[in-house]
Amino acid sequence: MPAPAGSGRPVNLALFTHPACLRHDPGAGHPEAPARLAAVLEALNLAFPQLPWQEAPAASREQIERAHSPALFEALLGHPVHGRRQIDADTAMSESSAEAALRAAGAVVAGIDAVMAGRARRAFCAVRPPGHHATRGEAMGFCLFNSVAVGARHALQHHGLQRVAVVDFDVHHGNGTQDILWDTPGSLYISSHQAPLYPGTGARSETGGAGRCLNLPLSAGCPSAEFRDAWRREVLPQLDAFRPQLILVSAGFDAHRLDPLASVDLDTGDYAWLTLELVDIAERHAHGRLVSALEGGYSLTALRECSVAHVGALQ
Ligand SMILES: [Zn+2]
Repeated sequence: MPAPAGSGRPVNLALFTHPACLRHDPGAGHPEAPARLAAVLEALNLAFPQLPWQEAPAASREQIERAHSPALFEALLGHPVHGRRQIDADTAMSESSAEAALRAAGAVVAGIDAVMAGRARRAFCAVRPPGHHATRGEAMGFCLFNSVAVGARHALQHHGLQRVAVVDFDVHHGNGTQDILWDTPGSLYISSHQAPLYPGTGARSETGGAGRCLNLPLSAGCPSAEFRDAWRREVLPQLDAFRPQLILVSAGFDAHRLDPLASVDLDTGDYAWLTLELVDIAERHAHGRLVSALEGGYSLTALRECSVAHVGALQ
């Protein structure tokens, strides 16, 4: 029998989610639909019925404001939403969105607390809305709060870590994470992404205030072999050399060949491969500590397969 959550025995992998993340509804026909998370949860429960789930706590205002301006916090949470509130052309809030955004960021914070305390070796946060497009002062691109950036700041400021890496393999560039971590001492932001594509940032020349951003643009149609080769040659050695004490992962699965919003040509095995490479570096430098959070991914089939591959490799 597996140890129940909270029994005090350390687990290899902690899983966090919250029902509010299923209720966040940006509108009929929107690609960032509740069905995405439902598919991920269903696939993970089928594949790993023994894994203990934990309810994500809400991030506190103090935790959110380590990464975001008080004005953004007020704009999103200051007034309750009745019906729907449009934030930008493709970002909207429903009644549950504020809580979903707080629980998504809170999941990453709780995952970090769990791995720092040694209660778990790694954590996966099955949450939405995604976060990596949200900048310090602006919600955009389906994202409200930048959960992973909130987590990075929490690891640096609350836990006092000196080297925290954020690895973002979502097919879109995480302009928000780059913005928030641009000149944050102790952070390294790494992203591979299709270019040109939304949001238009992430050129190789964007290297951060202290050389702390590593951008790897991929061309449309980029196949598995080219993707793996680029990571092997350009990214993984630099991540290894950084000697991260914690790795945070923005796990978007929209570089999969089935994804309707992008045209990179990865298959499910590429996500297992990359996750194992990241686990290997985490084992070498970070006592295994790695916390991953769901970002994009808009094919339900790819989401099911890739989340199982990713979580399987994290175990
Ligand atoms: Zn994406």
